[in-house]
Amino acid sequence: MTTADKLALLGGTPAIDRPLPHEIWPPRADEAELAALTEQRNTDISIKGNSGPIGQLEAEFLAFLDHGVRYAVTFNSGTSALLAAYFALGVREGVEVAGPALTYHAALSPVFALRGDVVLVDIDPVSRGLDPKALEAAITENTRVVTVVHQWGHPCDMDAILGVAERYGLRVLEDCSHAHGSRYKGKPVGTFGDAAVFSLQANKAVYAGEGGILVTDDALVQDRATLLGHYRDRSRDSVIDEELRSHWVTGFGLKLRMSPFNAIVARHSLAAFPARKEARHRCLRHFGELLREVDYLEPITVPDHVDMGAWYGYKPLYRPEALGGVPRSVLIEALRAEGMEVGAPSGPRLATLPLYARPENPLFPGTPKRASAPEPGSQAAHVEQHALSLPTFTDWPEDVALIEAYAEAFRKIGRHREALAAHAAETSR
Ligand SMILES: *Cc1c(COP(=O)(O)O)cnc(C)c1O
Repeated sequence: MTTADKLALLGGTPAIDRPLPHEIWPPRADEAELAALTEQRNTDISIKGNSGPIGQLEAEFLAFLDHGVRYAVTFNSGTSALLAAYFALGVREGVEVAGPALTYHAALSPVFALRGDVVLVDIDPVSRGLDPKALEAAITENTRVVTVVHQWGHPCDMDAILGVAERYGLRVLEDCSHAHGSRYKGKPVGTFGDAAVFSLQANKAVYAGEGGILVTDDALVQDRATLLGHYRDRSRDSVIDEELRSHWVTGFGLKLRMSPFNAIVARHSLAAFPARKEARHRCLRHFGELLREVDYLEPITVPDHVDMGAWYGYKPLYRPEALGGVPRSVLIEALRAEGMEVGAPSGPRLATLPLYARPENPLFPGTPKRASAPEPGSQAAHVEQHALSLPTFTDWPEDVALIEAYAEAFRKIGRHREALAAHAAETSR
């Protein structure tokens, strides 16, 4: 046997020879972006209203959503925008928000700062987002808001979720931080709920560095969210309701606005997005087709009515029973030895985190809340324990050779499953 034929973990030659890292994000700035940043430095380094790049970014973002909603408000992070959204939707002491059991914590954590409570709901194994049947079962008399996260770019089952929300009088918040450019039945995500938030943090497909944007079609939500994060000029100019506008000098006490430099970076990444999205789709369609030959992976299912937008990572599920029961950690070790950039997705189930698990709100000691018990048999646990996180390949056709090397590394592991299973048994002893 040549060393190319042997698993790299056991001393063979790696299947992938391109040095790490393979996913380089965000892309470097071009001359036009750098020139705009320089110009802004000598014009205005703190925009108090919504002029300049702040207002331009907000207008361009509404166009990006096909003008499916009327209002956009920038914030200094997605988390700040989520806090403003929860405030605007009426979250306070005694109010419950239902949200997915497996997602990035910031989708729901701001609820605790408003003394609200979170009810975790199981996910659908195909979309990896909120399961509408589990949502219906979790609703209590205190549930007022449901948060959907279009996880890893895959839109949630919005028809069913909006149906449940309507029956129980819930307001719907969409966290679209993974889903810039995703569409459900042709309509952009972010235009279905009472409010939506897109994080523009550096890892996201449209990035400001740090930043977030809240969009809504509801003028009262716009007013309240604006007042939570913007005092003086912005609130004077944007708040529509006269009684609420009387607070323009102070807002509601917080200042969460975006810096113009971040807005400039976001404008350029938004303009570059359509071409990057197209390249990602070509890359990941090709990767998905090649991975169909790998029997120990569950391919990602994308129904016809779903557009995956920016994708935000490629996360197939591992089927250990098809690979001699090799634990995921050993598979990851073997794939890394082959030169792959791979891991387990970073976020654990929220129920395992102290902020969610403990029966008291730690921000306001003495405020009881529903403790979230970890649910070992849930779909959330299944996805948490079986997903693999792979790069979101972005450069077409430059990445084709790398994508093919990844597919070969997966096939190579499959050809050597007995050797890997024996190694796993050996090292677990
Ligand atoms: C990134 C992210 C957030 C938080 O956004 P920041 O801009 O980092 O504050 C919230 N929800 C989800 C799903 C995210 O991926």
